[in-house]
Amino acid sequence: MSLKDKVALVTGAASGIGRECAITMARQGAALVIADLNKEAAEVVVKEIVQAGGRAISVVMDVTNEAAVTAGVQAAVDKFGSIDVLVSNAGIQIVHPIEDFPYEDWKKIIAIHLDGSFLTTKAAIKHMYDSGRGGAIIYMGSVHSHEASKLKSAYVAAKHALLGLARVVAKEGGPRRVRANVVCPGFVRTPLVEKQIPEQAKAFNISEADVIKNIMLKDTVDGEFTTTADVANTVAFLAGFETNALTGQSITVSHGWSMH
Ligand code: NAD
Repeated sequence: MSLKDKVALVTGAASGIGRECAITMARQGAALVIADLNKEAAEVVVKEIVQAGGRAISVVMDVTNEAAVTAGVQAAVDKFGSIDVLVSNAGIQIVHPIEDFPYEDWKKIIAIHLDGSFLTTKAAIKHMYDSGRGGAIIYMGSVHSHEASKLKSAYVAAKHALLGLARVVAKEGGPRRVRANVVCPGFVRTPLVEKQIPEQAKAFNISEADVIKNIMLKDTVDGEFTTTADVANTVAFLAGFETNALTGQSITVSHGWSMH
């Protein structure tokens, strides 16, 4: 499968998993729109893709701001003529026991993960319908779309909700060839996870090595982290899978931590 002649917009593409998804799809021929809050880091990814012979632009986008999302998606269409793949990936993590969870933090997590997925879908799907070619929408879920962990009420609720959103988009989009799926990674050593290791060590009063061994990787089949490449290859596969045979699904990429 090739992504030649496809245009892909990835949110949160300036770092971690989103960055790797963008670079992988560019390698397979797609033109990339690197959408992120962080303009400087987004430009670095654009440069990397262009230097390797690919096509890419950056757009500054806060996925919780409807006007910014609409403008960013329009900028992509103006530049490359269409939008064929949306990877809704931007995300953060904030952990607290529920009795101490600041409501502001709860709202922030829900806004970035869930409102951001809704707003980017709403903006991009119109172009997918208008082109007559349909498209692929991929939500970055998590093992936490299927499992729960202590201290992560907002994150787990938001990631579970993405399954519901994807299923509705699959039903609405199916007749117009828009597929919607969720990719569910286990722990990947990105800045988002590096930050959690000392936080969890403190919260559970254990060492950082124990957080990794006894919490993060405890239920994997091999004690290994999932890599950004593992996740990006799965995203690129879904981006290039052209029929409705695979829609409304979630694919877990987690070294067996979760087998849903
Ligand atoms: P990361 O911190 O490396 O990258 C996240 C990116 O999102 C950053 O570039 C940041 O600037 C951007 N971002 C944050 N808020 C934004 C906003 N409002 N609008 C636009 N961009 C915004 O994180 P990551 O680990 O690569 O995570 C990416 C996604 O993968 C998240 O949805 C996360 O929940 C999910 N995920 C991560 C892991 C993991 O172990 N790292 C596991 C499962 C799922």
